[in-house]
Amino acid sequence: MVDYLIVGLGLAGVSFCEKLSENGKSFKVISDSSQNSSLVAGGLYNPVILKRFTLAWKADEQLQLAKPFYGSLERKLGVQLDYPLRIFRRFNSIEEQNQWFEAADKKSLSPFLSTTLHSNKNESIDAPLGYGEVLNAGRIDTRLLIQAYNSELLKKQLLIQETFQYQNLLVEASQVVYKDITAKRIVFAEGYGLKANPYFNYLPVNGSKGEYVIIKSEKLNEEKAIKSSLFVIPLGDDLYQVGANYEWKDKTNSPTPKGRDWVLERLDKLIRCDYEVVGQMAGVRPTVSDRRPLIGAHPEKENLFLLNGFGSRGVLIAPFATAQLYNFIENGGALEPEMDVNRFSKKWVSR
Ligand SMILES: Cc1cc2nc3c(=O)[nH]c(=O)nc-3n(C[C@H](O)[C@H](O)[C@H](O)COP(=O)(O)OP(=O)(O)OC[C@H]3O[C@@H](n4cnc5c(N)ncnc54)[C@H](O)[C@@H]3O)c2cc1C
Repeated sequence: MVDYLIVGLGLAGVSFCEKLSENGKSFKVISDSSQNSSLVAGGLYNPVILKRFTLAWKADEQLQLAKPFYGSLERKLGVQLDYPLRIFRRFNSIEEQNQWFEAADKKSLSPFLSTTLHSNKNESIDAPLGYGEVLNAGRIDTRLLIQAYNSELLKKQLLIQETFQYQNLLVEASQVVYKDITAKRIVFAEGYGLKANPYFNYLPVNGSKGEYVIIKSEKLNEEKAIKSSLFVIPLGDDLYQVGANYEWKDKTNSPTPKGRDWVLERLDKLIRCDYEVVGQMAGVRPTVSDRRPLIGAHPEKENLFLLNGFGSRGVLIAPFATAQLYNFIENGGALEPEMDVNRFSKKWVSR
């Protein structure tokens, strides 16, 4: 018997596994490749909502947990994951410049918004009104993280690469049984795959598909991430990850001509140099109707738990939501009501 069975090995699954390892708990993971949000993510951690210049929900608390979390994963996996990256927000109007400096004066935002107005020095970019710089931001190589963690668990024979068949789960009073695995508890962390989970698909996960285009440009020569109507994220070797859009109808992971056009139309307004499209990728963000994570226990089955709903901010939310869920399960700690699945308990219909 293991302490936990985990379904899904994206950012949510990885961070829960780490919490369990830290605390000497035993576990097994089942994960397939039906969802790939964590594999295609830009990986940016940025505490500020760059549309309105407001602090993202609990971002300061999340950042404090995230930095040591990814640092310890780097040491464990022997790879670089955390890339310090300057994020520059392009100003579209004088009014926006003013709003930025007003926001930067606020106590909660001052650690994250620089009060310097940066003029544009890159001839390949059109930014006549300059930029504001986000401080304490960066990028996690989430693809490498998931791949390296996958290999690590495979080596230790803790990962089964297959699709979890919900109908084969036996939920008993003090344990769950799935094929030849018996566990005290099960934590579901399937991202948008939650839609197929009969225990938790009553929850309002809408899912928003996002697409990135990868370009190569020798002339762009930019080391900062530029945010205008989209993000241009430097990857090194003249490669840039550009995007991403929000598409609410299509829930597949397939790149589309429509997604590519959306990205390139906006990119062409921002940069003036030649580039070549060398790749495109798409994934579905597990976005919740009220834009808050979903963590907690099943309304009736007390061995079933959920870690989901990270939306477009998985990098910062994962360690924070994990710490809360673990403390709730193991120590009876309270959950933040805003994250607790209980807020949607009226939607659960006993079956
Ligand atoms: C285009 C795009 C850009 C993004 N950019 C950023 C960014 O810059 N910064 C940021 O913080 N966040 C970003 N995000 C959001 C971030 O990627 C997500 O919040 C996060 O990755 C969600 O992690 P997760 O583990 O919940 O889900 P996922 O990464 O989807 O992982 C779920 C895992 O569970 C598996 N699974 C599902 N169902 C089953 C089943 N039945 N059986 C077995 N396995 C199953 C899936 O195959 C997958 O491996 C972006 C997302 C997208 C799509």
